[in-house]
Amino acid sequence: MRTPAAFWMKALSIILFVSTGAAVVAGDKEPEGKQATPATFDAAAVSGIVDAATVVPSLLVDLKYATTDNFLKRNVYGDLKKCYLQKDAAGMLKKAADLLKTRDPALRLLAYDCARPRRVQVQMWEVVKGTPQQGYVANPGTKTGSIHNYGCAVDLTLATADGKALPMGTPFDHFGPEAGISQEAKLLEDGKISAQDLANRLLLREVMVAAGFLPLAHEWWHFNCATSAETRKRYKMIE
Ligand SMILES: [Zn+2]
Repeated sequence: MRTPAAFWMKALSIILFVSTGAAVVAGDKEPEGKQATPATFDAAAVSGIVDAATVVPSLLVDLKYATTDNFLKRNVYGDLKKCYLQKDAAGMLKKAADLLKTRDPALRLLAYDCARPRRVQVQMWEVVKGTPQQGYVANPGTKTGSIHNYGCAVDLTLATADGKALPMGTPFDHFGPEAGISQEAKLLEDGKISAQDLANRLLLREVMVAAGFLPLAHEWWHFNCATSAETRKRYKMIE
């Protein structure tokens, strides 16, 4: 009697695994009941948060999670289209933008993600949990969650004034070693990224680090405005 039950448990786990994987890789539509609730975000209710574009007038913004062009293949930001950051982080971004202007006046910073409400983090985690992509998304159940949840992290790239992103070797949110910054000489040597990709990454990193941001080892696009401990001490998580 145990064999059929075990068989069906196994079959069910395979079905669950495959459907979860499909949501990540192919972006299959989910059944009606499982659709993400678009996040609405009342910035005025979160103290210390500012629209970064008001502090950095040259900033270009294209929030990828407010489109279907992201690894979730769905809009989880609803009508949240602006790059909200802690006031300190926005001030640092202004420094980075000013420095970039001195290095190449034709270039702009293009933000892909800024403050991310914790409930969106929960949705992201549900999609990647138990898949090979799990390591690329912060678990909202941990003490820190993602630094994005505090408005202290920004995902961004360099772009031309008309919004065309410069090549960086991988797209934003590429889940793989090619997106990492600690082995770039090897990536170049192995032909995984080009010399131009690397030069673009280095320029982005140079201006962000000079402004006080901390880069992340496995994502060329991600920068924190402070360490995890400092972030938790200074800011409140945005629910
Ligand atoms: Zn990020």
